[in-house]
Amino acid sequence: MSSYTSNLQHFLDKNGDIPLDIHPEGRKMASFLTSVVDRVTASFPFVREFIKTGLKCMKTDCRGAIIGHFRNENEPIVWQCMKCSDFGSISDWQNSHWDKATNKIKKTV
Ligand SMILES: [Zn+2]
Repeated sequence: MSSYTSNLQHFLDKNGDIPLDIHPEGRKMASFLTSVVDRVTASFPFVREFIKTGLKCMKTDCRGAIIGHFRNENEPIVWQCMKCSDFGSISDWQNSHWDKATNKIKKTV
């Protein structure tokens, strides 16, 4: 079982995009993290429990279902694999292209 602490901004360029020249492992991780942010924040503000993201574990020998959660828009998003129990947190996801939560707050203000 492994845990990952990720700062989303470390995977993005200054425009907030995944860099074209990122190495393959970095791209895989960046795609995974941005997808988690997208799926989890899309259910805001109804996130009370872990939600099924529809994503699969990055480990090729696992491919378990990934669930995700965040308590509020100030906290990291956490994710976990239901099969191998790998888990991680994603900080600095706010206002990224994949953030559907704080964008919603801005729109409703
Ligand atoms: Zn797994």
